[in-house]
Amino acid sequence: MEVYLDNSATTKVCAAACEAAVSAMKTVYGNPSSLHRLGFEAEKLVTQSRKQIAGALSCSPDELYFTSGATESNNLAIRGLTAAYPRIGRKIVTTTIEHPSVSETVESLCSTGYEVIKISPDSDGNFSPDAFAEAVDENTALVTFMLVNNEVGVLLPAAEICKAVKRKNPNTLIHIDAVQGFCKVPFRSDRILADTISISGHKIYAPKGVGGLYLKKGVRLKPAQTGGGQEKGLRSGTESVPLIAAFGAAVAETYPNMENNQTHYRQLREHLKKRLMNQPEIVMNSPENAVPYICNFSVRGIRSEIMLHFLEQSGIYVSSGSACAKGKPSPVLAAMGIPKERADSALRISFSPETTISDIDLLLDGLNNGISSLQKMR
Ligand code: PMP
Repeated sequence: MEVYLDNSATTKVCAAACEAAVSAMKTVYGNPSSLHRLGFEAEKLVTQSRKQIAGALSCSPDELYFTSGATESNNLAIRGLTAAYPRIGRKIVTTTIEHPSVSETVESLCSTGYEVIKISPDSDGNFSPDAFAEAVDENTALVTFMLVNNEVGVLLPAAEICKAVKRKNPNTLIHIDAVQGFCKVPFRSDRILADTISISGHKIYAPKGVGGLYLKKGVRLKPAQTGGGQEKGLRSGTESVPLIAAFGAAVAETYPNMENNQTHYRQLREHLKKRLMNQPEIVMNSPENAVPYICNFSVRGIRSEIMLHFLEQSGIYVSSGSACAKGKPSPVLAAMGIPKERADSALRISFSPETTISDIDLLLDGLNNGISSLQKMR
């Protein structure tokens, strides 16, 4: 038995994406830059995938660039925008709950003379667009924030934040890390005043190692590497045709089902919450208005890793927070004012369209067993 409830860390590749990757490896193995038929066919696959993904982002296919994943996209956007526009200013505004691929990239720019201002959520985990507007001034080069937080599922009001920022300083550039929201919550690049947006394949049932960066038409970016000039010179390196084809196939399957999936996630979360609330040991960490597919709670008195490995013995896989922050205390829970002891016992459950009510029941049984046997051992 396997109950996989760690879909925010990564997802199982869907059948359509598997088939697309295998078929590309077996039959469309040319280099998209080659001038012969096999090269042309490989390029056609990349073009098709670009169209599929651009459709889901509501952008033009020429505004989408393929990368190796969102860590690269976030680095490329933050470093590339600040390097291309050195005269806008020396301040960067971000939040205290970013993924390390954003927070550490921003931090690293401090040594080149940037000042970083970090905005914290309120105790409910919410961010007000006004807080961003207040932090932005005539010297702000970049605002970078996430659409959905990977640990607790906070959904930031992206459109409103962008409006407030651009109203305060129209020159300030905006980057959004949309990894945990893409194809999961409604989000249109053409309705949001962002200059760059990161997405990743492996969070939406495509393989690991492929991602994308939306770059608004007319906005420039300094590339991170020199080379063969692929992706219009923005990201040199031979395109991974199988991974790109799989990314397109995963998006084509996931995006049209977004609303149905949301309804499904809400049912799962209601079921989980109703039964968790009966447990005096459990306290919710995800705010009331979090996305329905990420649920973070603490089991009082039992450290996350202990419960995680207990559940694993029954084939139930959860996260002790963010897989990317392995072993480190969660700055996200701290930013929300959650005391250390409670943060140390936090578990994150994240759903996929394949998650069933009976998976949730197995998790609840596992938690009950864990609470009674692990508390006895203390
Ligand atoms: N941003 C967020 C919010 C994430 O959750 C992740 C993955 N954990 C990343 C960026 C990095 O994505 P990738 O694994 O594709 O590099």
